[in-house]
Amino acid sequence: MDIISVMDDSLSNKIAAGEVVERPASIVKELVENSIDADSTSIEIALEEAGLTSIRVTDNGKGMSRRDAALAFERHATSKISNERDLFRIRTLGFRGEALASIASVSKVSLFTSDGETEGTEVQLDGGNIIKQSNAAFRRGTDMTVSQLFYNTPARLKYMKTIQTELGHTIDLVNRLALSHPHIAFKLSHHSQTILHTSGSGDRRKVLTDIYGMAVARKMVPFAGENADFKVDGYVTLPEMTRASKNYMTLIVNGRWVKSYTANQAVLDGLHTYLPIGRFPIAVINVETDPFLTDVNVHPSKQHIRLSKEAELFDLIKSSVREAVKRSIIVPDAVKREPVKKVHSEQVTIWNEFQPANSWKNKEVEKLTTVKEEPDSVQEDLKSESNQIEKKPLQTVYEPAINKYEQAVQPEQTVQRDQAVQPEKVMEVQEIPAPEKNEVKEKRFPSLVPVGQVHGTYIIAQNEDGFYMIDQHAAQERIKYEFFREKLSKVEEDERQMLLMPLIFHYSGDEMVKIEENREALNDVGVFLEEFGPSSYTVKEYPAWFPAGEASTLIEELIEQVLTTRKTDIGKLREETAIMMSCKRSIKANHHLSIADMERLLSDLSHAENPYTCPHGRPVLIHFSTYEIEKMFKRVM
Ligand code: ADP
Ligand code: MG
Repeated sequence: MDIISVMDDSLSNKIAAGEVVERPASIVKELVENSIDADSTSIEIALEEAGLTSIRVTDNGKGMSRRDAALAFERHATSKISNERDLFRIRTLGFRGEALASIASVSKVSLFTSDGETEGTEVQLDGGNIIKQSNAAFRRGTDMTVSQLFYNTPARLKYMKTIQTELGHTIDLVNRLALSHPHIAFKLSHHSQTILHTSGSGDRRKVLTDIYGMAVARKMVPFAGENADFKVDGYVTLPEMTRASKNYMTLIVNGRWVKSYTANQAVLDGLHTYLPIGRFPIAVINVETDPFLTDVNVHPSKQHIRLSKEAELFDLIKSSVREAVKRSIIVPDAVKREPVKKVHSEQVTIWNEFQPANSWKNKEVEKLTTVKEEPDSVQEDLKSESNQIEKKPLQTVYEPAINKYEQAVQPEQTVQRDQAVQPEKVMEVQEIPAPEKNEVKEKRFPSLVPVGQVHGTYIIAQNEDGFYMIDQHAAQERIKYEFFREKLSKVEEDERQMLLMPLIFHYSGDEMVKIEENREALNDVGVFLEEFGPSSYTVKEYPAWFPAGEASTLIEELIEQVLTTRKTDIGKLREETAIMMSCKRSIKANHHLSIADMERLLSDLSHAENPYTCPHGRPVLIHFSTYEIEKMFKRVM
């Protein structure tokens, strides 16, 4: 009996819709990508019920002719590729020619479009069938409304989460599309309330400001790099402005937002030892490359791409991020400054964590709190995670890093309690050219004279700019970490110390199996084992820099480290080994130091490559400026 039949278009479109049209955000993505491909400079997205009731996308792009307006909804109808060769040099976001067919099959679509040459066209579709097609007056561009989503596939509708969740997905998507196309003005609204509005100025930092607010954007530093195949640029937040999730990293390849574990990892590696554990940056990474090196046709929703030379790209991202952050981090400041955001009131002020708890305090705080934010409720709710830190100014004890942007705006200029300030002056994020490398290093670290020690844990030191609290453990950890990292990076060329009496180490059978597997990694960190009987190893030599009298413990620790981390990446292994060794060998809290000890520690610290954070990303020193101290004591106003 013959039982096979070929599906009709309507059924196959619905099945394809399952792949492309997962939720309202996926429809927004396809429609907006079409608008981008049509060279629009302005795109408006209006949603009802998070898009479940209606999604309307209006653009000012090149529009469609009468014939194309109907053809666009046919399966495999596309203007973007015409032969196989095109597939290897795709510059458009779409190319499969199936999005509109799929979307139309599970909704009602209304289209107005014009290519500007003839009168416009109106097309109405129901479940994929054209029910009306006529001339209609319309300016150049396209206006497409998709309504009653999944009305004919109710099972799908059931999978939709709540309105808030769906809206969240769409906002996230539009944020990323706006970041990917700073030259396009995007406007997203929900029930006619504006959620995002970008200017289309071409400045990606402006888009970041529109999305995350001024307080976050001014904590972001630009990075850039280039090699034979890739050009990379972007922004990353400084380590004090972090998130608990990796979702705030956006990779853009040739204008397409794609998801990439590798790129995220490259950014994290670039920030390694600057970021507190479990915290992640906000970042946007823009990559330009020959389309020939990318394969975008690996997934129907085109969210993942395959890249040739991924490892080279990884290194480029990592090193550019690292350079940029290293350049920008300087001494943390004890003062928490109130975020300057959409200011439209008379005064701007700073908040001080160290205000004495006196009766004047509350009044004073009331008087000082004059920064008002513009109401923007939906967006604010959805951004609440991103704004938590800024909204509770009294919570953070220190504000690490006066970065180069803040240097441009001295406290004296921003704090003018008795007279109105020009908001623009304060809000302006100024690009200051990065100083020469050497200059940075020499100028950055303040010269400090130790005064004493608090709780056997913190060193107090001073200079003409005020005083500093230094976490002695964190400081020494940083110094030792850099020492060990340096040494571990060139174990092979190092001088070796020969031992008269070999050291002997005993291990169980299963441990020896693991050690055998990791012999090479152990050599790389300076552990040279030789078998010695069924359950022992001897060590006859080790690198000359191994701390005297501690070699045996150190070797045991190194073996332990290699066995537990089982790192195949030697760079990472060395780094983690350096962190472990530095932590174990640094002075702990509650340890008395003489002034001479403190002087030595501070001098060593001043030579560190990054003296401001410990290898775990915690701050090493905090600055209390003379001005702030005088302010606390009401010597200045
Ligand atoms: P694809 O984008 O893969 O080509 P789609 O189904 O998304 O497939 O769209 C089919 C065609 O419809 C596109 O190739 C394009 O020619 C046309 N089109 C869709 N949306 C627009 C728009 N906003 N402006 C101009 N043309 C459009
Ligand atoms: Mg498309």
